Amino acid sequence: MANAAASNLPCSSTPSLIGERERLDLLEKAEEFQKIGSWIFYHSSGCFHCSSQLLRLLAERPDAARELTVQDHRKRSHELTRSLHGILHRIPAMERELLIDQLQQSWLAGKSFRIEHRLLLANGKQEVVLHRGHTLCDTDGEPIYTLGTLQQLSNQQPQAESTKLAALHDGLTGLPNRSASLSQLQERLRKRPCNQQMALIQLDLDNFEGINNSFGPEVGNHVLRWTSSHLQDQLQEGDWLARLESDSFLIMRSRGIGSLADALQLAKQLQNSFNNVVPLLEGGIQIQLTSCIGVSLAPDHSSDASTLLQCANTALMEAKRQGKGLLKAYSTAISQKIRENLDLEQRLGQAIQRQELQLHFQPQWDRQQRLIGAEALLRWASQRGEQIPPSRFIPLAEESGLIHNLGRWVIEQALQQLHRWRSKGLLLPKLAINLSAMQLIPTTTPLDTEVLNLCNQWQIPPEQLELELTETALITNQKHATKLLRRLAEAGVSLAIDDFGTGFSSLKTLQQLPLRCLKIDRCFVKNLPGNAADHSIVKATILMAHELGLTCLAEGVETRAQHETLLQLNCDHFQGYRLGKPRSADAFAEWLRN
Ligand code: C2E
Ligand code: CA
Ligand code: CA
Repeated sequence: MANAAASNLPCSSTPSLIGERERLDLLEKAEEFQKIGSWIFYHSSGCFHCSSQLLRLLAERPDAARELTVQDHRKRSHELTRSLHGILHRIPAMERELLIDQLQQSWLAGKSFRIEHRLLLANGKQEVVLHRGHTLCDTDGEPIYTLGTLQQLSNQQPQAESTKLAALHDGLTGLPNRSASLSQLQERLRKRPCNQQMALIQLDLDNFEGINNSFGPEVGNHVLRWTSSHLQDQLQEGDWLARLESDSFLIMRSRGIGSLADALQLAKQLQNSFNNVVPLLEGGIQIQLTSCIGVSLAPDHSSDASTLLQCANTALMEAKRQGKGLLKAYSTAISQKIRENLDLEQRLGQAIQRQELQLHFQPQWDRQQRLIGAEALLRWASQRGEQIPPSRFIPLAEESGLIHNLGRWVIEQALQQLHRWRSKGLLLPKLAINLSAMQLIPTTTPLDTEVLNLCNQWQIPPEQLELELTETALITNQKHATKLLRRLAEAGVSLAIDDFGTGFSSLKTLQQLPLRCLKIDRCFVKNLPGNAADHSIVKATILMAHELGLTCLAEGVETRAQHETLLQLNCDHFQGYRLGKPRSADAFAEWLRN
């Protein structure tokens, strides 16, 4: 039978208008009738009881406490919602808001309420429940008690209301989704007092795709749920939090926002809030999360809901384009840049068919100024007659995924070129090709198979080929990349680390790879011989390379003084304008002959 067990809020006094016996009877009846838990709240005493059946349904698993405890940021003045906290924090945010609204209506106007919502049960399952009840008022209209019952609809089809709710919700985190956010934003903009500003903050986790790929979708989902709960902890009264898609979250706040500076400060706070917390994931995996954020402000950037969302997104895209852990506010300059990038990306997609791409070749030399090889550098001359530098279009190709086609094209062209030169009697000892990090990620035809097949097709010995990789490329997807590079090295292909000193690879990573060469980045060579710090870095790099049994090539050698300093420091190989600029295939062949 329904035993009226005390809830987490102990009953302070016995309600005056209804006796203990009657109260038990009431609950008992409700339980019997519904075959489900019930609760009752007495308004004058603030006394709250729930049935033993309800307690059983909700009894917390000890390990679920963190996951389930939502900070009560929407503190309502009324005791009822406080008493119901144990139930409310198990209901997804949007449905919770709707229930609170209905409860309020119920006690203010003595109405009954009826709502279907999802509820996280003690067994860890989320089930749809029918939650209904009513408030009994005295003759003055003062509420005496509010009674509620929750009926599990587990095997029933959720009704229209729930279907509508589900359409506004993200099933994984229980947060409102994009379309709920859009209506909410429209509503907030409509009701906004004319002097009030509102910040829209779109937060996107860095490297979420990498986490998903490396650890699997289960861990990815865990990260998203953790992030959702972490962000909820950062909210204040009146804030809105939603999951827009994948790893992209939206926060809206009006309170305390008087200018763009306030919005940016809030964004910074949110970003920093990830600094000292590391989610512990399944299998003991720990990942330090960082994020990029885009900020827009109403009414400064727009008073239209979808435009505002678009502005925050535009700012976010720019932040992500520039790197990790970055924060950008919307500006017209950003949106102009995004439009240009989209245009460029589209044209880049057609550049191969339109034959706008070309490889240029820059010679590499040893200490005795003998030619040891060349580096292939991609050039794009668009049909509009502009030369677009690789530093502009390679990152775009990487973002859009075009790099896979482009990378394949470069390798094929390079090998074809070696083949052509050889048939004309020109032998280049080695040709270096630049690789992007993305070319190392798992694909249907792995890079090593592709490269070796092409070597075979163009009859180029793999020993004639060198692949240049950056430190970042080695860190992302390290396990897969190491295997792939080992297979290439075993087949005879050499590997070089490009732009050495600008990334974050550890000596351990370097040691595990079958490397041949370290390329010292131009930024360290540029200030030689005058700059003492750069001089030390270059000196140490050369020593280290030799210790590891690698050769060292200095890039960007432009002056005689630089060249001489590098020779003194025992650098093995050199490349730069002083020794030869990149030239087209024909010009390079012509120059070689002379
Ligand atoms: P990188 O691999 O570090 O290439 C060296 C860059 O320095 C080239 O710029 C080259 O033209 C330039 N350079 C060479 N010697 C000197 C010098 O003495 N002084 C100065 N100031 N610059 C010098 P480029 O061709 O504009 O390429 C820029 C970057 O674009 C490359 O840097 C590389 O990261 C990327 N890239 C170029 N071609 C490809 C490609 O086929 N695939 C990929 N994934 N990336 C490429
Ligand atoms: Ca390079
Ligand atoms: Ca380089």
